[in-house]
Amino acid sequence: MDRYIYGDTALELRKGDITRQDDVEAIVNAANAHLRQGGGVAGAIHRAAGPELEKESTPLGPIKPGEAVITGAHQLPNEYVIHCLGPVYDRDVPHDQLLANCYQNALDICEKKGIKSIAFPAISTGAFGYPPEEAAEVALRAIMKKMPSLKKVELIRMVLFGDKDLEIHQENMKKLM
Ligand code: ADP
Repeated sequence: MDRYIYGDTALELRKGDITRQDDVEAIVNAANAHLRQGGGVAGAIHRAAGPELEKESTPLGPIKPGEAVITGAHQLPNEYVIHCLGPVYDRDVPHDQLLANCYQNALDICEKKGIKSIAFPAISTGAFGYPPEEAAEVALRAIMKKMPSLKKVELIRMVLFGDKDLEIHQENMKKLM
């Protein structure tokens, strides 16, 4: 299952690199609290965006788990980067609620700014240690719960880095429908 539609909004699952989503307005960064470059998704996004991104993002920090802030995308092929701080599994609790907040707060920002398309990585599933199966269920549930209220957002894409992560999301999507 790679595409789920609710009203005028589509939820897509795709294997890929979050820095190469040139057909979406906003990409989401799996950020750190201080909105610095770091590794993983954040490292890749800051490298591709150039040093101006960090200059814009760090004054907006620190942020708390579940929170999201928006900046420009600089040299990335997008308009915006929405920086979400996922929970560190087993430290930031309740981890499922905090992870769901990331997705929902990012979508709220899109609605406020009139952003029509957004791509998310699998927040918290790398350095922050959230088990991928559990994270996929929380992420997809949170997005689907939000979809009926969306008026501006037309495309939500989950960008999964590997085959295994894509499969996990496809299986979860089937379960949730
Ligand atoms: P966190 O600190 O929130 O756990 P990470 O950046 O360490 O975030 O990883 C989140 C997920 O994103 C992991 O599953 C990782 O494999 C994946 N990932 C890493 N680089 C990229 C990329 N360039 N595009 C999409 N996903 C990526």
